[in-house]
Amino acid sequence: MRGARAFAVWSLVLALLAGLLPAAQAAPDPRQDSAAVWTVGTPTVKSVYPAGLIFRLHARSSAGPITRARLVWYRPMLRPGATRHIQVEEATIDTARGDLVATWQPSGLLMLPPWSVLAYHWELRDAEGNTFETEPRIAEYADLSRPWIRTESDDAVVLSSDLPAAVHGLILDALAAQRRRYEAVWGATLPYRPRIVLFGDYAAWLEWRTADRTTSRTSFVVGQTFDAWGVIAQVLTGPPSDAAYRELAYSIVLHEMEHLYQAEFLSSRRRMDVPGWFTEGDATFFELEQSYDYLRRVRGLAESGALPPLLVPLPDAPRVDGANPRLGYDIGYSFFAWLRESTGSLDAHRSIMALLADDVPFFEALEQALGLPTAEIESRWRVWLGASPAAPTLVPTWTPPPFLPTPTPMLFGR
Ligand SMILES: [Zn+2]
Repeated sequence: MRGARAFAVWSLVLALLAGLLPAAQAAPDPRQDSAAVWTVGTPTVKSVYPAGLIFRLHARSSAGPITRARLVWYRPMLRPGATRHIQVEEATIDTARGDLVATWQPSGLLMLPPWSVLAYHWELRDAEGNTFETEPRIAEYADLSRPWIRTESDDAVVLSSDLPAAVHGLILDALAAQRRRYEAVWGATLPYRPRIVLFGDYAAWLEWRTADRTTSRTSFVVGQTFDAWGVIAQVLTGPPSDAAYRELAYSIVLHEMEHLYQAEFLSSRRRMDVPGWFTEGDATFFELEQSYDYLRRVRGLAESGALPPLLVPLPDAPRVDGANPRLGYDIGYSFFAWLRESTGSLDAHRSIMALLADDVPFFEALEQALGLPTAEIESRWRVWLGASPAAPTLVPTWTPPPFLPTPTPMLFGR
């Protein structure tokens, strides 16, 4: 009886609210010529991390029982013209009580790091075919199972577990120090504040990684950036040290942040055909501290005649995967370092990105931004590094290994 009475009171509150907010929660569906009146409560969501999210809604239609209810969720930020990729969870419907419950559980296909932010709404249909859609709301995949430290600045929200609080200061300082460079290259800062989610405990890291398909025994993923959700997730696996925390802040996070900018601003088609050395070299260019001197390494290659060609079709370009992934990173970095040193500004870098954002093909973007043919760009970059002006001819042509190595674009290892 208590339950029934509480329910009656709740209905009254809803009715009052509906009276106060006629447009929001209880109104005939504008897309239907029916007299159905929907009485819809406030949607709630509960994080049961690492097991997922439980969405609940109380709803009724005056025209008949609700026969279909689905919960639709998606990334909260969508850039203009982008396709919204949605996840749909069919709800269970308690017709007698008007209770709807939908759950999302992490799977081998989709995982979310804790503290991801998502948007969701409900889509309802009653037995007469009337429909109702709730306003989008924001939810957070909170991990309430362990203590987290949370700090934030204009640049990011940082969350950490099992790490010293001082790491937060390092991260926010590093991002502030590079803010103007991100802005200079992209013309704007990100339209959202990314979440930087840091783990000091490897078991806690693994807890949510249901879609981690790494099978190698010698390398494992210690960081992954989710551009769809605006999350940079990292775990520190070595012994705690100030050097490791500094590297995380002044190298890794700044690098991953640039990947979020690439995902935000470059057209998705260009992100597919831009070479890995360009993407990684650009991200590396944003690191403020280097664990070794990247440029010196590439100059060493140049001086010994071992600098490979750069502006060539993908199979022959420096790689960022396979046996020697750092080669592509370092060579790519040297390209952006040359761009800035030889022009004295970030304008050329910015022009290339603007053209790629406009969907200009990669080599055309380089030529337009620099006003030079591709061969001349390559030659000037080579000479700046101390190499011969002409790239070595590749003989024999690169042949794929008998088996393809596991792609490791998300792998951050040194
Ligand atoms: Zn990277």
